[in-house]
Amino acid sequence: MTLTPARSTSLDVLLSDLAGLDVITDLAQVMKLSVDYYHFSPVLQKQLEGKTGDLVVRPVSEAEVLRVAEVCVRHQVPLTVRGAGTGNYGQCVPLEGGIILDMTRMQAILRLEPGLACVEPGVKLAALDKQAREIGWEIRMAPSTYKTATIGGFIAGGSGGIGSITYGQLRDRGNLLAVRVVTLEDQPRVLVLRGDEVQKVNHAYGTNGILTQLEIPLGPAYPWAEAIVAFSDFRSAAHFGQDLAQADGLIKKLISVSAWPLPSYFTAFRDVIPAESHCALVIVAESALEALEALVRQWDGQICYQKSAQDASKGVSLGEYSWNHTTLHARNVDPALTYLQTLFPDLDRVEQMMHQFGDEVMMHLEFLRVGGAVKPVGLQVMRYTTEERLNAIIQAHEAEGALIFNPHTYILEDGGMKAVDLEQLRFKELVDPYGLFNPGKMRAWIERGCSRS
Ligand code: FAD
Repeated sequence: MTLTPARSTSLDVLLSDLAGLDVITDLAQVMKLSVDYYHFSPVLQKQLEGKTGDLVVRPVSEAEVLRVAEVCVRHQVPLTVRGAGTGNYGQCVPLEGGIILDMTRMQAILRLEPGLACVEPGVKLAALDKQAREIGWEIRMAPSTYKTATIGGFIAGGSGGIGSITYGQLRDRGNLLAVRVVTLEDQPRVLVLRGDEVQKVNHAYGTNGILTQLEIPLGPAYPWAEAIVAFSDFRSAAHFGQDLAQADGLIKKLISVSAWPLPSYFTAFRDVIPAESHCALVIVAESALEALEALVRQWDGQICYQKSAQDASKGVSLGEYSWNHTTLHARNVDPALTYLQTLFPDLDRVEQMMHQFGDEVMMHLEFLRVGGAVKPVGLQVMRYTTEERLNAIIQAHEAEGALIFNPHTYILEDGGMKAVDLEQLRFKELVDPYGLFNPGKMRAWIERGCSRS
């Protein structure tokens, strides 16, 4: 049997070179480990359906990663790295087959000290957070998939999440301190990047290196309380969110505002959130609850659900109703729904877009720090009809100065970045001369005519 697409190396030769490693060839399992949550996008569904790797390797050490890298270069086989596969844009879906490198067995927490963690890439965010809290620290931010997602996948494929209201986004200087990276050169090496150099691989979808170790900063751990605040009008909910975001004395981790009917999709809270209400899901330090209540009164809100820090540490957190989990709960009820990601310049623009699109684009905002200021980011849930209509809605937002982070493309630059990242391209030229890392995802590489054919 030869590898897909037509490749000269047979699977047997490859398997013999990989002998002794944890290799999966069972087709059903390989297919399962070749996908992520790209099905959230009807556009990506069409484009990525059926794409699969040829086999999966699950290394347990950096030395094993180096062995796989050597084999890939020797046989010119593409390599796509994978964490937990919770990405939304097909980031870890192999477009040209080859080897899937599943990093989930490399999950050691190597060092934990005040303010700092040094970890292997496959460690799950929730597991790291739990251990860090034992010494009074916690991870600065996490995606709403923190229970399953890996730190390597978050850095390489994510952007921010619960905690971003305080610490900004992953790409912000200081949120990633150092990495070890394995290359795909004739003689694969391990490079250490520190300080600003980490941006060469930060959020690069695994197109220019395999992260084998990461050093990340931690934040001081707080006892986090949770609350749902209901509002009879969306404007109050959004302004409450903005005011809470800007309240410097209030320690918080999450401010997630959803317009009705989105709360109706939160089935676990159906009896809690009053019908027709818009709501804010918030996670604040327990000591901030009293001050929070005053702000709630100021905006005529009603706290309809509250959990102490002790109770909130058990069971499902409100975090799992925020960020893209809002979309997930809506899609559980109506799988035809999809979403947008929008950085709004201000709340006036949010209201304008709500009036323009009504129920077709249901408003969901997350507040976060961007460049030192607090901004509303929309993860609007959308009723999809056609790609043309989707693009028209995107253009209408852009025309009003809202920046769309398009979740309907697997191309790195076309999602959030918009522009080519020359630093990442130059690094790829250095460490991946044959273009074997996750081929087809970096536009800069494809357009410079170096794509393998
Ligand atoms: P994967 O999906 O496995 O990989 C992501 C990318 O990283 C791929 O390109 C892969 O090739 C690359 N990669 C993985 N490991 C390595 C490595 N060791 N070296 C080099 N490259 C590597 N994202 C957010 O940012 N914030 C959110 O709040 C958020 N919420 C979500 C909610 C839902 C319901 C879903 C489905 C997704 C959400 N996501 C969110 C997207 C995703 O869950 C996160 O970005 C997550 O951190 C990805 O981690 P993962 O381990 O699943 O990575």
